[in-house]
Amino acid sequence: MFDVIVVGAGPAGSMAAKTCAENGLKVLLIEKRQEIGTPVRCAEGISKQGLKRFVEIDRKWIAAEVIGAKIYAPDGTEITMAEEMAGNEVGFVLERKIFDRHLARLAAKAGAEVIVKTAFISFERRDGRLKVKMRRMGEEWEVETKILIGADGVESKVGRMAGIIRTLRKSEIESCAQYLMSNVEIDENYTYFYLGNELAPGGYAWIFPKGNKCANVGIGVLPSKAKANAKYYLDKFIEKFGIEGKIVELVCGAVPVYGEIETAVSDNIMLAGDAAYHSDPITGGGIANALCAGYYAGKVAYEAVKKNDFSAGFLRKYDELWKSDFGWKLRRNKKLQEFFLKLDDQTLNSLAKSISGRNIKEMSVQAIIVELLKSNPHLVDLIKNLLI
Ligand SMILES: Cc1cc2nc3c(=O)[nH]c(=O)nc-3n(C[C@H](O)[C@H](O)[C@H](O)COP(=O)(O)OP(=O)(O)OC[C@H]3O[C@@H](n4cnc5c(N)ncnc54)[C@H](O)[C@@H]3O)c2cc1C
Repeated sequence: MFDVIVVGAGPAGSMAAKTCAENGLKVLLIEKRQEIGTPVRCAEGISKQGLKRFVEIDRKWIAAEVIGAKIYAPDGTEITMAEEMAGNEVGFVLERKIFDRHLARLAAKAGAEVIVKTAFISFERRDGRLKVKMRRMGEEWEVETKILIGADGVESKVGRMAGIIRTLRKSEIESCAQYLMSNVEIDENYTYFYLGNELAPGGYAWIFPKGNKCANVGIGVLPSKAKANAKYYLDKFIEKFGIEGKIVELVCGAVPVYGEIETAVSDNIMLAGDAAYHSDPITGGGIANALCAGYYAGKVAYEAVKKNDFSAGFLRKYDELWKSDFGWKLRRNKKLQEFFLKLDDQTLNSLAKSISGRNIKEMSVQAIIVELLKSNPHLVDLIKNLLI
């Protein structure tokens, strides 16, 4: 019998398990893959603040540090996020193969049991507890728990079985493809974002430096808008911009761009990270929110065990925490994403021109919106109405 079983050893799951264990709970963290952190389905960019809130920085898993970001409109107009405040939205490029393992090790060090190659299969409620079925090396076994935390990523089996989430529509998910490339000639002080309805329908392309001329070169497209798969658009992007270098790895993955879900809990169950669609609908960034959600889920699990109350009513405390921390941003950015999706390339170009050359001091969606509103007063009412 465990107090808590956490499914998935990504940032959300390891942070949840670590927090539970630090509070004295008996916790089991299971991961279906044989190696935590691989394959990496991520461009690995994260703001310094988002990281420092929850983890002590260790240079072992920092691949590169950037001082700013450059965004390119379809006609090549450049917006540079200023250096003084650099690092707000994408300050580090991580080495997630090492980072994810490091987090799982912290959970183990705090007292959590961590097992790999073990997949969650199903659960059954019995007398206010859960019987959780798992498969390990072809064998099935059942373990009892008071609380189950689903941190099993975008297609969360825990979430769907609990009826908290449903399968996402084509307009609610970014389909991504990414190459890890070596010998890429870029200024490694910046991350690069490329916009355009032809280039990346409903998404954007990116180049994130990883040091030593290596870079993550990727693209995300909205399947409801795209005519082909993400890899097709990625190859086109590389050809168009003449990005030379050797492809060392290819990863494909998906990011939920749903916005804020109403609740991430049901009786005995909480979802955290991508499982609860916690990634940002505009940037697709989800690591920082996953860490935050995992931390809150762990805290509320501890309180629930102390009070011996595992009802959805009690676990709603977790909803309150993540919603007031970053849920409102997911809600706002979903509306902004829907607004930007309607803009054609010409409008994107003219908006970019209106703020190109500005000293944008913060690397955030909010900072760009503020600059856009300053230069385009006609947008004020439109965006104000959108956000009400
Ligand atoms: C191409 C791409 C680029 C991205 N770039 C960025 C970026 O630059 N910055 C950023 O912040 N975010 C980025 N993201 C999003 C980011 O990767 C996720 O938001 C983040 O990994 C979410 O963490 P998580 O712990 O919720 O889920 P995950 O990291 O997905 O971890 C879930 C874990 O659960 C395990 N699991 C799944 N099912 C089971 C099961 N049945 N049993 C046991 N274990 C299971 C999985 O194997 C996995 O290890 C990107 C995503 C993609 C696809």
